[in-house]
Amino acid sequence: MDIIKKRIGIVGGGQLGKFMILEAKRLGFYIAVLDPAADCPASSICDEQIVTGFDDPQGYFELAKKVDVITYEFEHINASALEVLEKEGHVIYPSVASLKTIQNKHSQKKKLSENGVPVPRFAKVSNTEDIKTLGQTDNFGYPMMLKTTTGGYDGKGNMKIRNEEEIESAYKRLGGGKKELMAEEFVNFEKEISVIACRGIDGSRTIYPVAENIHSNSILDMTIVPARINEDAVSKAASIADKVMEVFEGVGTFCIELFVTKDGEIYVNEVAPRPHNSGHYTIDGCFSDQFENHIRAIVGLPFGSVRLISPAVMVNLLGKSNGAARLEGLEKAYLDPNVRVHFYGKRESEIGRKMGHFTVVDETTDGAVEKARKIKDLVRVVGT
Ligand code: ADP
Repeated sequence: MDIIKKRIGIVGGGQLGKFMILEAKRLGFYIAVLDPAADCPASSICDEQIVTGFDDPQGYFELAKKVDVITYEFEHINASALEVLEKEGHVIYPSVASLKTIQNKHSQKKKLSENGVPVPRFAKVSNTEDIKTLGQTDNFGYPMMLKTTTGGYDGKGNMKIRNEEEIESAYKRLGGGKKELMAEEFVNFEKEISVIACRGIDGSRTIYPVAENIHSNSILDMTIVPARINEDAVSKAASIADKVMEVFEGVGTFCIELFVTKDGEIYVNEVAPRPHNSGHYTIDGCFSDQFENHIRAIVGLPFGSVRLISPAVMVNLLGKSNGAARLEGLEKAYLDPNVRVHFYGKRESEIGRKMGHFTVVDETTDGAVEKARKIKDLVRVVGT
């Protein structure tokens, strides 16, 4: 197949899908998107959209007929439909096997730990007694994390249990008895970091600089690059990320979220088989961004440079109120020429919804952080 004539199918037309298309269009690829929202962010720039739910197998079969390779922008999708297609010979990257393992937080952690990747201790729990046993001091102890094994994002599907009295309510709130749950040892981390890593069809790999992430209410608020951690932690994180790509035989861009403790221990929290919010800094901070290298990977092209051009800070723009989305303060933010604002094109703003982000670059990391804090007060997304 002539690479330049490739047609790419993307499951999901949110901001991640939209950024993939912007990069794919640089090379003139044809893009079809599957998304239930006719006005999703990718709708304005894709060639074709199949408007149907992420669980509708027919939508996937239709998509497969139109394209040479299928990829996806998030993991809560119909893996069984994709599995049928893969068996029929359709090309899907990352592979359905890796998607299925990663979709379930328990099977994901099991695969990682079996392959020697450091993860917090974890166990499936079937009832509150199991959690009580894990809460004993010679076991995980308290605090402890309780998580739904599937469907969680932005902290939805997680509860921190501080003591035995909190078990019952956490178990109920997460749907215990109906949903599969797992418990995890609580990691008293000093920093949360992430590594964006890419792997090609031929097994070649490239790894972006380590990013430091600051969350607010379990939603990513700010990403600082390079991460403010010592060199030993940087090289440990990079080698763990490289190992994760090998374990999953991932093709495309992945994100590996990690915890760093005070004494320099590093644990994998979560792997996403796709570009990630904490890799948005690569758009303005690196020569080739995470989306470009994802597209290059899935069509079999060599990677572009992941070099960080200068320190960068990315800040998410979450909706401040509900209603038709409006971006305020762009003129003021743009008085600094080292700022770039990305507005995703979601019609409706909702409180806490990811509506856009901005990146600021500077000669120093501290300088970029300082500027980002100021710009955060200038630009915002409201609902009119
Ligand atoms: P989601 O899939 O919803 O993003 P995560 O499992 O990544 O959920 O957890 C969200 C946040 O909860 C993490 O960024 C981290 O701050 C916290 N967290 C999750 N697991 C642990 C853990 N084992 N120890 C300490 N904090 C944790």
